[in-house]
Amino acid sequence: MSTDRYFVPYLPTGSTFGQDEIDAVARVLRSGAKLSCGPERDAFEAEFAAYTGARHALSLTNATIALEFATYLLGLQPGDEVIAATQTYQANVTPLLGLPVVVRFCDIDPDTMNISPEAFAALVTERTRAVYLVHHGGNPADLDPIRAIADRHGIAVVEDCAHALGAWYHGRSPGTIGDLGCWSFQSYKNISTLGEGGMLTVSDDRWAEVAGRIRAIEPDADFVPRADPQLGEYRAPADDLERHAKNAYREDCVALRHPGTNSSLCEPAAAVGRVQLAQLDKLVARRREIAEMLDRGLAAVDGIRTQRRVPGIDSAHHLYTCFLDPETGIERDQLIRRLDAAGIQIQLRYFPVHLLPEWRRLGHGVGECPTAERVWFREQINLPIYPQLTDSQVHFMVETMANTLRELA
Ligand SMILES: *Cc1c(COP(=O)(O)O)cnc(C)c1O
Repeated sequence: MSTDRYFVPYLPTGSTFGQDEIDAVARVLRSGAKLSCGPERDAFEAEFAAYTGARHALSLTNATIALEFATYLLGLQPGDEVIAATQTYQANVTPLLGLPVVVRFCDIDPDTMNISPEAFAALVTERTRAVYLVHHGGNPADLDPIRAIADRHGIAVVEDCAHALGAWYHGRSPGTIGDLGCWSFQSYKNISTLGEGGMLTVSDDRWAEVAGRIRAIEPDADFVPRADPQLGEYRAPADDLERHAKNAYREDCVALRHPGTNSSLCEPAAAVGRVQLAQLDKLVARRREIAEMLDRGLAAVDGIRTQRRVPGIDSAHHLYTCFLDPETGIERDQLIRRLDAAGIQIQLRYFPVHLLPEWRRLGHGVGECPTAERVWFREQINLPIYPQLTDSQVHFMVETMANTLRELA
């Protein structure tokens, strides 16, 4: 779709790509080295772990796979309950759709769009095994109290960090306070690895080992020595034998939990990820500047409420969300159409997951998360935000919002 008619388009890339990224790709392509599972991937993972403070970081082809892996690692059993954010992208909870578990969608705090510790606590039962949360728009959920509630009840915390790279929660990175962090480097996100890419951060050593195995198309399984080998051993080089003992025809598989899959991030993508990661702080700083300009400007606009900012909780500003006051009597959808017609391309993020047809099919529906529903259908406005925005585009958004509300009042 052409964005020519917008003075402020919703850009399909969340970060800038320049000569450094082009050089990184060219360097890898010219090296003649293997383009998968190589030193760029290892370095990107080490640098990502160092940046976030994660114990283990495993790069993957995207965040959806990271969420699938996280779900697998939890080992959920039939009848287990999972508490899940509803104001999030559908991939956050898609892996749960095919499982015989009960999903309880958690309502949001209308100021942050995140699940609140209170709403989470109210849904806990003795069958709750996990909570899936998102840091909506890059604004960290209130992780300490959520972690404390989870620990009290033996609940695993899965953090969807697709928006949260460059965010800080009292000095720590999201994705390291829960048990599993799932990150995206898809084109829209704060940094990108050539349009698709992801990371799984893990604190548990055994989980990291299993995730590393299944992403390399090795099964998560139990093997035992073959009782009576009838053929001779395949004499592979020693390191190969060590990694692929089963290839030596010495083992039987007695239990298969996951067949393994192939989801490795390729070398050119990892090389670009390293360049982007080095620029992240600069990119987020510009996002913050824009968010602060919008907050200041919109605070003076009657009928608009801005997000609550909490000291010590620093958003990565992946999305900019503000809210129409229902007291104005103005219809939100009409406001959006006017803003769009005036040259601001609006895309709302996200339709509440519990109202998607595939979830309604399971009995979910309207009334389950009243705040998320009210905010989504009546109040929420997402304005474009990305580092490439100019100050004049930002001022234009504030002025257009003020003028449009005046016209509609
Ligand atoms: C983008 C996104 C995902 C999925 O990421 P991919 O890397 O595209 O698979 C998951 N959750 C949220 C909240 C997202 O925004």
